[in-house]
Amino acid sequence: MADNPTSTNLNFANIANDSATVHGNGTDSTSLHSGAARLHSIATRYSTGELAEACGVTVRTVQYYDSKGLLAPSGYSEGGRRLFTEADAERLRYILMLKSLGLGLAQIKGVLESPNRDTILKMLLDEQAVRVAEELDARKRQLQAIDTMRSDLELYGRMMATTELAMANRMNDERARKIWWATMIVVGILMDIAWIGTLVLGILTGTWWPFPIALVFVAIAGVWIVWRNLRHATFLCPECGAEFMTTYGRYLFSGHTPRTRKLTCPCCGQKDWCVERYHAERVDLAPGTCVPGTCTRESCDTNTRA
Ligand SMILES: [Zn+2]
Repeated sequence: MADNPTSTNLNFANIANDSATVHGNGTDSTSLHSGAARLHSIATRYSTGELAEACGVTVRTVQYYDSKGLLAPSGYSEGGRRLFTEADAERLRYILMLKSLGLGLAQIKGVLESPNRDTILKMLLDEQAVRVAEELDARKRQLQAIDTMRSDLELYGRMMATTELAMANRMNDERARKIWWATMIVVGILMDIAWIGTLVLGILTGTWWPFPIALVFVAIAGVWIVWRNLRHATFLCPECGAEFMTTYGRYLFSGHTPRTRKLTCPCCGQKDWCVERYHAERVDLAPGTCVPGTCTRESCDTNTRA
């Protein structure tokens, strides 16, 4: 249907006389179209419905851009119906393309009406690129927040953040935890390389002096890992829900999995597998005490002291 020009008896004298009129607002008659295109544009005529179909939009969309002065008909039929040319169709497709990039009505109008169309368009696209990148960042953060909340519910059995600020802190903690775990893996590998390497060296060549140095390095690195890990970790009691900091002794000699440790809760006294929670900042608590506000029992030492 769109390929068939409207067969109505047309009043297109104005187009033949003044090519500027062909291009709707009369603002950009020379920039887009060659003489051949202009001939083609005169030959092809669309009603509003046909133009909408040719450009894959609704009639309302065509009427909307018409009403906003972005797309004026090139002529009218004898019955007073709006008629558009191929040049108008191109203009509409151009408008739709700019809109798909997220440009607003005023910006699109500015581009269409400017004699420096390409310069204006480039500036607008630069701005738009920044805006889209910011939106993308915001969406990424949203996705991270969703992931954090889901893993909190899975791991701790409850939401660990109920405000936006707390969520930002939780996400910061999660990032810091991943970096710390990667650090521990690297240091662990270096420790293994050091003692195994120097041991093999001693056996093969009889050169033993590097071995004790490697053992000292392994001991220092091991203590550093434990000390640092403990300073940044709290544990959640599955029995009473209290969050507490354990002592060095208990931490060192407790059974553990990558995310849990079998500890005695200072609040309820129950020994159970407590989930380890890593904090980006050092935990400012005395070993063996609860995070204030997490104790549910009145008799807990932390509550009593407070
Ligand atoms: Zn407890």
